[in-house]
Amino acid sequence: MSDIDTVVVGAGVAGLTAARLLAAAGQRVVVLEARDRVGGRTHSQRSDGLVTDLGASWIHGIDDNPLFAAVRAFGMPTVELTVGSYQPDSRPIAYYDPEGVRLDQAQVDRFAADVHAFDERLATAVAASSHGTSYETVVETTLAELAWPADRRERVREFLRHRTEEQYGVWIGDLDAHGLDDDQVEGDEVVFPDGFDALAGRLAEGVDVRLEQVVTRLRWSTDGVVVRCGDRDLAAHRAIVTVPVGVLKAGALVIEPPLPDPLAGALDRLEMNHFEKVFLSFRERFWAPDVYAIRRQGPAAAWWHSWYDLTPLHGVPTLLTFAAGPCAQAIRGWTDEAITASVLAALREIHPHADITPAAVEVTRWRDDPFALGSYAYMTVGSTTEDHDVLATPVGGVLHLAGEATWTEDPATVTAALRSGHRAAENVLGRSVAIETLWAAVVDRSAAQASRVTRAAR
Ligand SMILES: Cc1cc2nc3c(=O)[nH]c(=O)nc-3n(C[C@H](O)[C@H](O)[C@H](O)COP(=O)(O)OP(=O)(O)OC[C@H]3O[C@@H](n4cnc5c(N)ncnc54)[C@H](O)[C@@H]3O)c2cc1C
Repeated sequence: MSDIDTVVVGAGVAGLTAARLLAAAGQRVVVLEARDRVGGRTHSQRSDGLVTDLGASWIHGIDDNPLFAAVRAFGMPTVELTVGSYQPDSRPIAYYDPEGVRLDQAQVDRFAADVHAFDERLATAVAASSHGTSYETVVETTLAELAWPADRRERVREFLRHRTEEQYGVWIGDLDAHGLDDDQVEGDEVVFPDGFDALAGRLAEGVDVRLEQVVTRLRWSTDGVVVRCGDRDLAAHRAIVTVPVGVLKAGALVIEPPLPDPLAGALDRLEMNHFEKVFLSFRERFWAPDVYAIRRQGPAAAWWHSWYDLTPLHGVPTLLTFAAGPCAQAIRGWTDEAITASVLAALREIHPHADITPAAVEVTRWRDDPFALGSYAYMTVGSTTEDHDVLATPVGGVLHLAGEATWTEDPATVTAALRSGHRAAENVLGRSVAIETLWAAVVDRSAAQASRVTRAAR
C-alpha cells in the first residue's frame, strides 16, 4: 500500500489549505495540480510593473473572516474597495440615467432607498417561495406588489438583473430564488495591490506540490484511492478533490465508482457560470473624481453598466468592467478588439466629450479554461443552499470534495475555498484543527516527500 496519507487534487486555495493543515498535522501529503502554477482561480498577472488580478480580486467582507486573518498574518498589503458586491450605495458611485445624464446626489439617494426598501420585501418573498422558484419570479412578484410608477420599478428591476449577473454570472431567470441568500457583506471589502496569488504562494510553502499533473481518473474503495496522471497511477489512503464542479461535470476527471447520492444530485444542480473581466487602462483619467464606480441605467446599459475605478490599486487610471451572464455568453467568440470596441462605445455615451482611448486592455477567458470551465458555480432553479455542503459529504471514508462550491455559507468565494479546505482537513483527521494553524504552523519539511513545488518531468 502507498505511503502517501492524502493526495490532494488541485492547488487552488481549497487544496492548499487542506494540504497545509494535513502536513502540519504530520501527514504525508501530495498535491497534484494540472497547471504550471499554484493558485487556481486566484491568478495575478504581472507585466510592465502592473499587477492585475485576472481571477478573484476582493475579500467580500473582512469582519470575522479567516481569509482576512490569513492574509494579514502573511503580511499581504490590502486596499479598501467596498464596491465589490453590487452595493447600490455606501461608497460614492457616479450614476447615469437612461439618457446618459449624471444623477445628482438626491436622485442617487432616492434610487438607493428604493433598492433597500425593495430588498427588504424581497427577502420575505424569497423565504416564503416554494421549491423550484426562480429569482426572477420572486423579483417580479414582489415588484408587482408595489404601487410605483413604471420607470421607478424598471430601474430597480434592471438593478436586480445586473446584480444577479455580477454576483453569480447568470441570467436572473436561471438562478434559484435562494441563489443570492448568502449575499451579505460583513465589514469592508479589500483588494490586493501586490496580487491575490501571494496567498497561494504562502500556503504552498513547505508542501509537496507537483505541477503539470492532470488527473484524469480517481478510483476509490474503502481501502484507499488510486489517481491517474498521464500514464502513471498514484495510490494513497485517501483523497481530497478540489477541482471546480465544471471539471467534474464535464467528465474531465472521472470518479470510479461514480459519486453516490446525495452528492451526485447536488453536483447535478450546481452549474459553472459565465463571468469575465475586462480591464481598461488609460493615460488620462476622464471619469468623475472621487468615485468608486460608474454605473449607467436604462436599456442601453443591458450589457455594460458598471465600471470600477482601480486607479488606487493599479497606480494608473484603470477601469474594470464585467461581462456577466448573457453578455458573457454572447461575446464568448468575439475578439478582444471587438469586446473593447463594444465597451468603449458604452463609455463614450456617458462621457461624450472625453478622449477615450485605452492604453491597454485585458480580457479574461475563464469559461474556455479547461481547468476552470467558468468562474464559479451558481444554484440552478430547484437547487437548495445546502447542496453546497452536501457535496462535501465524505464518501466511503476515503474521498472528500472541497472547493468554493462545497461551502454553503458564502459559496463562490476564496473565503469559501479556504473554509472548505479547512473542513476537509478536519474530516480527514477526524478532529477539529484551529484555523490559525494555517498561518502559524511551519510545515515540517521532513513530512513532505519533496517539500517544494515541482514540475512534471519532461
Ligand atoms: C473572474 C473571477 C473573479 C472572481 N472574483 C472573486 C472575488 O472578487 N472574490 C472572491 O472571493 N472570489 C472570487 N472569485 C472566485 C474565487 O476565485 C474562487 O471561488 C476560488 O479561487 C476557488 O478556489 P478553489 O480552490 O475552490 O478552486 P480553484 O482555485 O479552481 O482550484 C482548483 C485547482 O484544481 C486544478 N485542476 C482542475 N482540473 C484538474 C485536474 N484534472 N487535475 C489536476 N488539477 C486540476 C485547477 O487548475 C486549480 O488550480 C472569482 C473567480 C473568477 C474566475
